[in-house]
Amino acid sequence: MPELPEVETVRQTLRKHILDKQIIDIDIRLPRLIRQPEDPEVFKHRLVGCRITEVDRRGKYLLIQVPPYTLVSHLRMEGKYSLHSRDDDIEKHTHLIFTFHDGTQLRYRDVRQFGTFDLVPFGEFQTIPGLYSLGPEPLDDQFTLERFETICSSRTTRNIKAFLLDQAVIAGMGNIYVDEALFFARIHPERPPSSLKKREIKLLYEGIRKVLHDGIKAGGASVRTYRNSDGEMGYFQLQIQVYGRKGEPCNRCGTPIERIVVAGRGTHICPNCQKSPSPSRKIRKEMEEGR
Ligand code: ZN
Repeated sequence: MPELPEVETVRQTLRKHILDKQIIDIDIRLPRLIRQPEDPEVFKHRLVGCRITEVDRRGKYLLIQVPPYTLVSHLRMEGKYSLHSRDDDIEKHTHLIFTFHDGTQLRYRDVRQFGTFDLVPFGEFQTIPGLYSLGPEPLDDQFTLERFETICSSRTTRNIKAFLLDQAVIAGMGNIYVDEALFFARIHPERPPSSLKKREIKLLYEGIRKVLHDGIKAGGASVRTYRNSDGEMGYFQLQIQVYGRKGEPCNRCGTPIERIVVAGRGTHICPNCQKSPSPSRKIRKEMEEGR
């Protein structure tokens, strides 16, 4: 699932290619991806003739500004945008096609069909439930260490992994970047946020910002391949430290990376760099494996 850096990469690429373009037609091939307005014909009628003035992002949501509306797009698992000329063959799983005044098309493909579109009055995207409750943007200047310290002092009984995955706590983090940020800070994912020492909170704050920045930088680099492939927006090739590296040596200490389940998600840690909060964890892990 795309996380903040991938969505940001898509945003930057989209911006480059669709800004100032006027929508002259929309082909809606899978109407149920459009959550509002309910009638896809109304969706089409409202957007045709409008010009794209900006592409913004909030958390994992893309906000395509088409005054007097904002088109809110969430890619969910596998949604992808690509830019085409009108004559290009239409690939399988293409569900939405925006045709612009210059003959180019923005196409939305989604094999799993989980992506969503909401068309709301310009600037009123906050009314969408997922956006309404969204936490701070981790790369914003307003997201200071002091603010993160306050967030971590929450009296939650959840562990730090579940806490960081919660979009209402911080916007945009998913499984990969949470694992990477916790590894950076040498924090075990099962620890409660309130147990973190000031020094650890600072490291985690730096880790979150670093892995997200690195992801965006790498994503930006892969955008170069975007034209010579089949036109899909490129995803990043992040320098992954733990995620998906089960059994491979930790780049810091050489200990094999372990995969455990935390917050119901496959979670990768270095058992040496990220010390377990309780000695019973090893026993629990053996029990889980013995199942
Ligand atoms: Zn290690």
